[in-house]
Amino acid sequence: MKTDVVLIGSGIMSSTLGVLLKQLQPSLSLRLFEVADEPAPEASSGWNNAGTGHAGLCELSYTPHLEDDGTVNVNKAISVFEDFEYSLQLWAHAARTGILREVRACLHPLPHLSLVHTAEQVPYLKARHEALQRHHFFQSMTFSTDRSEIEEWAPLLMEGRDEKQPVAATRMAGGTDVNFGGIAGQFCQWLGDQESVGVSFGTRVVDLEKRGSGWMVTTRHEKSGREETVEARFVFVGAGGGSLPLLQKAGLPEAKGYGGFPIGGQWMVTDHPELVARHSAKVYGQALGAAPTMAVPHLDTRMIDGKRYLLFGPFAAWTGKFLQRGGNHFDLLRSVRPDNLLPLLRVGFHNLDLVRYLLSQGWQSKESRMAELRKFYPAARADDWKVIDAGIRVQAIKQEPGEKPGIVHYGTEVLTSADRSISALLGASPGASVSAKVMLECVQRCFPDLLRSKEGKARLTAMIPHWQIDLKESSAREKFEGWHGAAVRDLQLG
Ligand SMILES: Cc1cc2nc3c(=O)[nH]c(=O)nc-3n(C[C@H](O)[C@H](O)[C@H](O)COP(=O)(O)OP(=O)(O)OC[C@H]3O[C@@H](n4cnc5c(N)ncnc54)[C@H](O)[C@@H]3O)c2cc1C
Repeated sequence: MKTDVVLIGSGIMSSTLGVLLKQLQPSLSLRLFEVADEPAPEASSGWNNAGTGHAGLCELSYTPHLEDDGTVNVNKAISVFEDFEYSLQLWAHAARTGILREVRACLHPLPHLSLVHTAEQVPYLKARHEALQRHHFFQSMTFSTDRSEIEEWAPLLMEGRDEKQPVAATRMAGGTDVNFGGIAGQFCQWLGDQESVGVSFGTRVVDLEKRGSGWMVTTRHEKSGREETVEARFVFVGAGGGSLPLLQKAGLPEAKGYGGFPIGGQWMVTDHPELVARHSAKVYGQALGAAPTMAVPHLDTRMIDGKRYLLFGPFAAWTGKFLQRGGNHFDLLRSVRPDNLLPLLRVGFHNLDLVRYLLSQGWQSKESRMAELRKFYPAARADDWKVIDAGIRVQAIKQEPGEKPGIVHYGTEVLTSADRSISALLGASPGASVSAKVMLECVQRCFPDLLRSKEGKARLTAMIPHWQIDLKESSAREKFEGWHGAAVRDLQLG
């Protein structure tokens, strides 16, 4: 069997790439294979990630500290905002055109707050607010040290808090809570309804072999054990934690030296009606100790499968698994090769604090988790909360030339072969929020012809109107406001 494109995995990345490609060239033939019986059960699932539409509104890790001159560098937050705008625009296009049929099942407006509660952190948050507010993306951000105002924004934050504790918070009304798995599921459904597209669940990709200018992709049906081979011109490995093992099987020279460093996660969750009714926000604080930036706990309202919850976390945890549901405790060991052994050992050696932190976090008692939660919600009662597992992120590890040994790459890396016949996504931060931007870059690199014609450009502009414009520039402000306002309206996020 022959096809133009094979997509491996049904998470937010593969499904987004499928939608982009099929919108750009409707005649393209495409097969999507997902090992699970349902779409997006791993990292993209609503329960496995925090569902934050990362737009730099509240995450203090993007603007980590006061500079010597008393200012805060906010460039990273500004660029994260712009990256997220690609996703918002694509989702709004999907809502307008019926690709995303149930917007409310996966996207909710939710204020994003940052909270600090020490004397040192208050001036930092103030300076951060001053710097951000100067940019048109963040003009509506509010800052307060007034306890009653913060209580109005999020009552649980102030309940039982020591009167003498200095507090400050910022609030952005235009934040989002996103069920990325819900979006991926609707994208897969739409893809499955298109001409010359096949979406197969319960089907594992077991081998990738280079054949001529394309790839032979071998799949195995999980229940029947039946194997099938598909010849594809292009393969996207969007298997999340399963990507690295597949790349190793493919023997891709570009993947040599890469290792995977899995970081597990856990949440505290409550559906207590009174608590859930009194908190409507995502509240982020500052990183503590050796916590990796993406494992800084936050207190979030979540909407999952039509029900409202409060989630606190993620607590990072040590794991050897690369996938939460479909993984095996020996995944990490099995991924070790002569070419990545040294970088992996170096990561362990140079990040002993991180390894110790991950082990201690995974083993900590519920009471010590409650102590973390009480920094946000001082009156929290242990009986109202339970601990559940979150998803796994497999961070990419490779020592780049000139780089110090032992660096864990917390970013998202798209690896593409020299002949552009295969591309894979490694890493998971900031993750799902940048899916549209990262997948568009993949299209630009691997399918440049699709964007050369006037028609191709017009199709992409219909999906992502700003793809050729730097929205960060003050000259783009008016255009940004128009496009952003339209997306907010069409996604019912106003
Ligand atoms: C605790 C935690 C919190 C997070 N919070 C956020 C957040 O707030 N905001 C944000 O933007 N991002 C967040 N992320 C990151 C985000 O979840 C991921 O970046 C994103 O979901 C990755 O999507 P994906 O499609 O690459 O992978 P996945 O969603 O994992 O999809 C991969 C799919 O491939 C399938 N698969 C694997 N191997 C095979 C195979 N051999 N054959 C066929 N199918 C296969 C899997 O079953 C899976 O469905 C978080 C992640 C974690 C773990």
